[in-house]
Amino acid sequence: MPQPYRRILLKLSGEVLMGPGGLSIDPEVTARVASEIANAKAMGFELCVVVGGGNIFRGIAAAAKGFERATADYMGMLATVMNALAVQNALEAIGVETRVQSAIPMASVCEPYIRRRAERHLEKGRIVIFAAGTGNPFFTTDTGAALRAAEMKCDALFKGTSVDGVYDADPKKVASAKRYDTIDYSTVLANDLKVMDASAVALCRDNNIPIVVFNIREQGNLARVLAGEGVATIVTRENG
Ligand code: UDP
Repeated sequence: MPQPYRRILLKLSGEVLMGPGGLSIDPEVTARVASEIANAKAMGFELCVVVGGGNIFRGIAAAAKGFERATADYMGMLATVMNALAVQNALEAIGVETRVQSAIPMASVCEPYIRRRAERHLEKGRIVIFAAGTGNPFFTTDTGAALRAAEMKCDALFKGTSVDGVYDADPKKVASAKRYDTIDYSTVLANDLKVMDASAVALCRDNNIPIVVFNIREQGNLARVLAGEGVATIVTRENG
């Protein structure tokens, strides 16, 4: 059954841009991710993209090594801007029009985040890539994604990861781990299931935005999941 969504927000962890050779931003891998996004666009969806920065810098990890947390988080947010530019570059190389909007204004690099302007870009058929998360330290790009999904009135948040959904235990460690087809927000929060940060899940719950967790590393999977055919877990309200 095709998904009942028109406008979606795609959250990509920075790690999905990494290649086997250890490059933080691997051009080939980034081009493949861009072609997945372009296919989704060609299917008629309006697309917002939020990219993380974990492939380059994570504030919390740096803070554990002695960095001041807020400074480290700002560095992390700057890393997301690099990733956003890399995704923009790869999309424009295949003829897809995009705009990058950053929550931290940097006028010579990209647009500042302006919700109404982002709306106009979507109306014109452009993909809008949101960078720098929420613009505030002590948050993550998961929460930034949930926030932008709510602001942009997205019908769903698609979380592209390296597993094919939400499990009741870590599938890499527990062979009998069971994948959920659907699960409700409260169970995710109560059992601390690794979907997104609790603040991101709560924001989606409060705004009734379904979270679709799927494997973005598998070629063609985004399009399949968008067509309602791929393997994924959908996090929604109780009873759908
Ligand atoms: N970050 C932040 N505020 C935000 C979003 C991100 O301070 O609103 C920082 C934080 O240090 C985080 C880093 O940017 O570790 C990279 O983002 P994230 O870890 O969410 O990236 P991902 O895991 O999705 O690659």
